[in-house]
Amino acid sequence: MPFAELLPLLKRAHTLSTIGELLGWDEQVNLPPGAAEQRAAQHSAMAEVVHAAASAPRMGELLSQLEATPELSAETQAVVREARRDYDRATKLPPDFVREKAAQGSRGFHAWARAKAGDDFASYAPFLEKNLELARREAAYLGHGDSPYDYMLDKHDPGVTAAAVDRLFTELKRDLVPLVRAIVASPIAARARAAGERLRGFPINAQQMFLREVTGRIGFDYQRGRIDVSLHPFCSGTGSDVRMTTRYQEDQPLDALFSSIHETGHGLYEQGLPAEHLGNALGIHAGMAMHESQSRLWENQVARSRGFWRFFEPRWRELFPAPTREVSSEDLYLAINAVEPTLIRVDADEVTYNLHIILRFEIEKRLFTGELPVRDLPAAWRVASRELIGLEPATDREGVLQDVHWSDGAFGYFPSYCLGNMIAAQLWYRVLELRPAIEEDFARGDFRWLLDWLRENVHAQGRRFRALELVRRVTGQELSPKHLTRYLRERYGGLYGVHP
Ligand code: ZN
Repeated sequence: MPFAELLPLLKRAHTLSTIGELLGWDEQVNLPPGAAEQRAAQHSAMAEVVHAAASAPRMGELLSQLEATPELSAETQAVVREARRDYDRATKLPPDFVREKAAQGSRGFHAWARAKAGDDFASYAPFLEKNLELARREAAYLGHGDSPYDYMLDKHDPGVTAAAVDRLFTELKRDLVPLVRAIVASPIAARARAAGERLRGFPINAQQMFLREVTGRIGFDYQRGRIDVSLHPFCSGTGSDVRMTTRYQEDQPLDALFSSIHETGHGLYEQGLPAEHLGNALGIHAGMAMHESQSRLWENQVARSRGFWRFFEPRWRELFPAPTREVSSEDLYLAINAVEPTLIRVDADEVTYNLHIILRFEIEKRLFTGELPVRDLPAAWRVASRELIGLEPATDREGVLQDVHWSDGAFGYFPSYCLGNMIAAQLWYRVLELRPAIEEDFARGDFRWLLDWLRENVHAQGRRFRALELVRRVTGQELSPKHLTRYLRERYGGLYGVHP
């Protein structure tokens, strides 16, 4: 039985990759400053072991046999399809290329950090050129030489193409730009900003206690995961060992709270994947956009709702009596839902964030067609930023140099964030059809119905279906930006008194 022989090979490759991931978690949470070089050696030794397991010749033989077998069950086909994709990525890149790409990624990162510090795009441009060339070569090795950007998107979201993203983003942009303009012009925008600025002096130990209560209440299982502190929040691990991180600032209490709820959404997804299938397609998430939809749904649709705060606000005030004394409930709610365009993506609110992603997608797309030469990037960025966000960066540090992603060749990753927002909104309206008064659940501190529904319809599916197919099955419709636009209009249009 080739399938019975394949499964333990897949599981072993996956288990080894989780050990590598754990090294990465430890590096960001615990590593003594002097241990960086030793950790780099551990990473590279581990990467070799993982690669050997993922490219085992026997795996290739078994996959070929299975692909030639008629009448495989749908589940087996899904496992074989995704295993083939991973196997090809592990075996079709020549070792020299892999080494060159790793070395270039590290050089690119340092060049980016220097260029950003000195606001010197010209010194970084040659590294970006090289990364683009490597990305095109990688796509060609995998058989996608004629559509390298599709390949880049597919790396993070299997089955997603540039044409599909283009269609979705064009429609979203048309509706979102006027909404943002109207919100910003509303007098309530200034009140929301001022309310946020009054949230100062929240003791960190009480913040820790509060977010632990919130994330536990919405369903994160601390017997099978934990939360620690790191410079940038993230979530890694899977199954019964999920590692989340956050960071605390006394004067920005909503930052730790909402970033933790976001990571909790990722963590709930990983904890909800079917444990018996860990290591194959039935036990892995359906791509980064679907992952992001889970974090965004809890962070935005749930935790920015009035029902959610009806339950948690009394406890919040109890834990932080002094800094909340002068803050009214409405000001708290406005601070939670403040909208303000910013040049910097990672500082953006829920509404304008999508415009930052559209900007990056449009630029990546033109870089890959060759229509936009690397040297013209800073100018193209300024134009796009003015058009989309309404702000023009005075320096490249606040423009094209702000993100790390391209420095090591991670093209095609940004769209996942916005696709995730679209999926979250589309899932949300399906939830509301089935349970119109779900905010009443939240107001009682009850998140069970929602989590159970996501568990059954999304988490338990693993990667049986790819994201776009899963969305169609769960919601009965193709993925469309109209749900996100509707959600943003309902929540923010109402709050800010605007109706574009
Ligand atoms: Zn996320």
